[in-house]
Amino acid sequence: MKKSIIAAISTLFILLNCAQTKEEKTMQTYVEEPHSFAQPNKAVITHLDLDIKVDFDKKIISGKATYDIRNNKASEIILDTKYLDIISVQADGENTAYKLGKDDEQLGRPLNITINEGTQKISVVYKTTDKTEALQWLTPQQTADKTHPFLFTQGQAILTRTWIPIQDSPQIRVTYNATVEVPSELMAVMSAENPKKKTADGVYHFKMQQPISAYLIALAVGDIEYRAISDRTGVYAEKSMVNKVHSEFSDMEKMVAAAEKLYGDYDWEQFDVIVLPPSFPFGGMENPRLTFATPTVIAGDKSLTSLVAHELAHSWSGNLVTNATWNDFWLNEGFTVYFEIRIMEALYGKERANMLALIGRQDLDDELESLKESPNDTKLKLDLNGRNPDDGMNSIAYDKGYLFLRTLEETVGRERFDTFLKAYFKEHAFSTTNTEDFVAYLNKNLLEKYNISFNTEEWIYKPGIPTNQAIIQSDAFENVEKTLKTFIETNTIDAAATQEWTPQEWVHFVRNFPKDISVEQMETLDEIFDFTNSTNSYIAMVWFEQAIINNYHGHEVDTKIAEFLTTVGRRWYVTTLFEAYKKSNRVEEALAIYKTARPNYHSVTANTIDTLLGHKG
Ligand SMILES: [Zn+2]
Repeated sequence: MKKSIIAAISTLFILLNCAQTKEEKTMQTYVEEPHSFAQPNKAVITHLDLDIKVDFDKKIISGKATYDIRNNKASEIILDTKYLDIISVQADGENTAYKLGKDDEQLGRPLNITINEGTQKISVVYKTTDKTEALQWLTPQQTADKTHPFLFTQGQAILTRTWIPIQDSPQIRVTYNATVEVPSELMAVMSAENPKKKTADGVYHFKMQQPISAYLIALAVGDIEYRAISDRTGVYAEKSMVNKVHSEFSDMEKMVAAAEKLYGDYDWEQFDVIVLPPSFPFGGMENPRLTFATPTVIAGDKSLTSLVAHELAHSWSGNLVTNATWNDFWLNEGFTVYFEIRIMEALYGKERANMLALIGRQDLDDELESLKESPNDTKLKLDLNGRNPDDGMNSIAYDKGYLFLRTLEETVGRERFDTFLKAYFKEHAFSTTNTEDFVAYLNKNLLEKYNISFNTEEWIYKPGIPTNQAIIQSDAFENVEKTLKTFIETNTIDAAATQEWTPQEWVHFVRNFPKDISVEQMETLDEIFDFTNSTNSYIAMVWFEQAIINNYHGHEVDTKIAEFLTTVGRRWYVTTLFEAYKKSNRVEEALAIYKTARPNYHSVTANTIDTLLGHKG
C-alpha cells in the first residue's frame, strides 16, 4: 500500500471519527426538566432566526421566530410560551396545525406544533402582550437622560418564553441570528455581536454563533452610546452616564486577562457591559458578550466592581458550562462566586478577596436563619418541582456553593484544584451538566486521583453547613469589629482611624450594629459619617436597613429611604429594606411606599415584593 493511500485512509478515518463525535454530541440525551414543556429527546431546536419589531407606542414586540430543528422522527414539537399571542405557525414554510395547551401559572402554555418526520424548520408568527414578564418598558422619566424611552429584557430563569416562543430549558442550547427594528433615534443591542453606532433606519442585525441557553437571549433598546476600554472590552450607557461608567469599569480588560490565566481562554470574543436604568432587577445578568448591569454599582471609586468580575466569571460557569436544570443552579452560581473572588484576589489582593468572602458568609448565615423552617431549601441540590425556579435564587446557591468549593480547594490544595477546574471547563465547554455528573467527575478526576476523602455528599445533598467548612479571616474586618465595639461601649469613635476604610469595611461596620444600639448612637454616627446621604448604594442600603429596624428617623432618613425604594429596582436591595419594615411591624409604611414604587419595578422584583408584603398585584 502506498503511503499516500494510507494517509488518505487515515484522514478519512479521522474525518469519520470527528463526524461521529460531533454527532454523538448533538444526539445528547436530555434529563427530566420540571420547568419546561419541551420534549427535546423527540424534537429539539438548534438554531433561531428572529425577525422582530419593537413598538414603543403599543409596548409590544411582534414578528417571527424560525427554528432549525433536530427531529427524531417526531410528529410534533413542543415550545414553551407564556402570555404570547400566537398568530400562525409553519413547518418547512407551509402552515401547519398547532395547539396551545392549558395555562400553568408558573410555566405558561405548551405550544404543540404538528410536524412530520422529515420536518427541518418551523416558524411562529407572534406578538407579546401587556402581561409579558421578561420585558420592562421605561418612560423617558425612568431613564438617566430623561429624553427617550428604554426597553430591556430579563430571561432568567424562565421568562424568555414570555417574549419569544422557545424551548426554554437551560439544557437546550441554540445559536441565533436576529433582525430587530426599533425607532431610528434608538440603538438595539443583544447577547450577540453588537453594533457600536446607531444605524440611520433603526434596523439592527445580530449574530450569536456560540450555542447558548434560552435564558441568555437578551435585548436592550435605548438612546445609548458605546465606549471601548480595550479591543475586546467596552461599555454601553446613556449619554449622561457613559463617561462615569467607562472610568468605573476601566479595569475590565485586566479582569478578563486575570480570568483567562485562571480558567483558560475567554471563548466569547467580546466582553462588554451595558449599564441600564435603575429599575433593572439584578446587580448584573451575564448575557453572553454583553453583561446587563445595574447603575447602583457606579460608586465613583471602583469599589463595587466585583459585580463585573462575577458576571465575567459566568462566561465560564453558567454560559460555557450550564446547569442542566434550575435544581442545579448552585453549579452556575457557587462556581461563579468562587471565580469572582479569585479574580478579585488576582487583581486587588487577598485582603479584599477575604472581605468579599466574609460578607457572603454573613449573607449565608442570614439566609440559613430565614430558611430554618424549610431545611430542604438549604441543600445545594434543590427540588423545585412545582415551584418557581426563582425560589432557588438565594444565598444557598451562591454562598454555600462558594464555601463548598473553597473548603474543597483548601483540602486538596490550590494548585491541584485549579488544574482540575481548568480541565473541567475545557471538557464541558458549550454543554450542560447536572449535580450528579459533576460529583462523578470530581470523584474521578480529583478525589480518587489523589486518594483524598471529602464529604461531598454531605455538602451537596444535606441541609446546613458541614463542620469542616473553611474558616475565612480578615484583619481589616476584625479591626472594624473592634472599632464598633468600642463605640457601642463608650459612645466615642476615632474618626481619623476610619479614614482609609473601604466601602466593604463600612458595610461590615453598619451591618453588625448590635440589636440594642440606641437611637442616640445612630444619630451620632449619622452626624459624623453622614450615612443617610451616602453616595455608595451598598452602604446606603445597609444603613437604611438599620434605620428601619432601629426606628431611627433623624436627618430625613425616611424621605431618603422612600426615594431610594422608588428609583432603585434592584431586587436584593429593595427586598432587604421591605423585609426590614416587615420584621419591625411597619408594614403599613412599607405598603404606602410600595404603592408609588411598584410601577417602577420589573416583574421579577414586583413578584417578590408582592409576596413579601401580601400585596395583590
Ligand atoms: Zn451570578
